[in-house]
Amino acid sequence: MIELKKLEAWFVTGSQDLYGPETLKQVAAHSQQIAKALNASSAIPVKIVFKPVLTSPDAIAELCQAANTAPRCVGLITWMHTFSPAKMWINGLKILHKPVAHLHTQFNRDIPWSSIDMDFMNLNQAAHGDREYGFIMSRMRLNRKVVVGYWEEAAVRSQLGAWTRAAAAWLDWQGARFARFGDNMREVAVTEGDKVAAQIKLGYAVHGFGVGDLVAAVQSVSSQAVEQLLGEYDEAYAVAPELRKGGAQRAALKEAARIEQGMRDFLSQGQFKGFTTTFEDLHGLVQLPGLAVQRLMADGYGFGAEGDWKTAALVRAMKVMASGLPGGTSFMEDYTYHLDPAGMKVLGAHMLEICSSVAAGKPALEIHPLGIGGKADPVRLVFNAPPGAALNASLIDLGNRFRLVVNDVQVVPATEALPKLPVARVIWEPQPSLPVAAAAWIYSGGAHHAGFSQAITAEHLEDFAEIAGLEFLHIHGRTEITGLKKELRWNEVYYALQKGWLS
Ligand code: MN
Repeated sequence: MIELKKLEAWFVTGSQDLYGPETLKQVAAHSQQIAKALNASSAIPVKIVFKPVLTSPDAIAELCQAANTAPRCVGLITWMHTFSPAKMWINGLKILHKPVAHLHTQFNRDIPWSSIDMDFMNLNQAAHGDREYGFIMSRMRLNRKVVVGYWEEAAVRSQLGAWTRAAAAWLDWQGARFARFGDNMREVAVTEGDKVAAQIKLGYAVHGFGVGDLVAAVQSVSSQAVEQLLGEYDEAYAVAPELRKGGAQRAALKEAARIEQGMRDFLSQGQFKGFTTTFEDLHGLVQLPGLAVQRLMADGYGFGAEGDWKTAALVRAMKVMASGLPGGTSFMEDYTYHLDPAGMKVLGAHMLEICSSVAAGKPALEIHPLGIGGKADPVRLVFNAPPGAALNASLIDLGNRFRLVVNDVQVVPATEALPKLPVARVIWEPQPSLPVAAAAWIYSGGAHHAGFSQAITAEHLEDFAEIAGLEFLHIHGRTEITGLKKELRWNEVYYALQKGWLS
């Protein structure tokens, strides 16, 4: 469902006419070689497309305009091999609506000590040419990612790779549609927000539906489609005996399959990239969709429970960024704590809806009562996540801006077996510690819902926040509360002023 290789980043080199055709020919040849190498790098998931060297304001503006309307172009990777007087860039950058990365590199890695002459110096000027270009972006208050280093270095490619993933997720949001089945749940605050502001600033639209529209889709699913899904379940999961063919609860699994197919049909017909449900509003649905949500997320759909459209959109963006990387990405909730000072941990789960992409091994397909909601027992996948580095991210609406809060965490094995816990779960130790991380998250206003990922890092989300114009707060191994509280207060001033300047 998510294919990054279909997308492209344009490799754009700036120069000027001053140097004459011979030098410019060399500039173009070098740029082509770099673009080709970046395109071949496995660290960069999109195509890198070489664009002819730009030497005039008109050519720059023309390229920026073309990038704006190129449907597969995620953004520009810009580099000044020589010197490109930056007033030439003003008109182009003014109209550019695509993200920009500034690659500050040099075609030659080393100074050729014994042979260096003025010809070499005139050709290899990025050390100051890129500073001239950087100034105009700062002067124009433009967000971008600056990547410094030799273009063959793994670290440089990995940073560009992260940026292209963030830019791809941004492109994916533009014009995206998210379905909200039912409305917000009861009086929950953080799942609300300004959907009009989200559409203006972030590019995606949230469409509300009565759950009856979904029920109609579920009821029109053919028994053949249900049988096909049952076959998939039997193969992919460790199916509990009562759900197997001939088992006492096989009918409940059939119902779950019908719900899944109905949701799939509804979402694909409406070209939605994600959705929300509300367990209090299930009129006409026999069970709360558990298995269906877990499997739809695994296919790339964003999801937020209880009407949480911001998290649904965030999970979708994280899945785009994670495409092709090892490790899963899911909707998540900090559910309950282990507060033993010898090793404090969070048990993350939800009632049912954790994406099967984070499962270690074959998930178990089980049926258990839900305890709340008053519906038939829902079918769900039960599993643990593999240990390793991960993060949680939360997008909140502060009234005058959206804030993205990210916490680095370490997934750890459960200390003991959890024989009676009938849901998928992830156990993690937040960085720098549970007390600091939870306090920082709470001071920041982070939601109880999050996007969880073992595939992407804070770098991806920081790049994404820069592109999207989101406030970015990163809770990491060196975070301390006094500093974080200051950052929160300073940011209030910054965003108040920024609104005055930019509106
Ligand atoms: Mn919840």
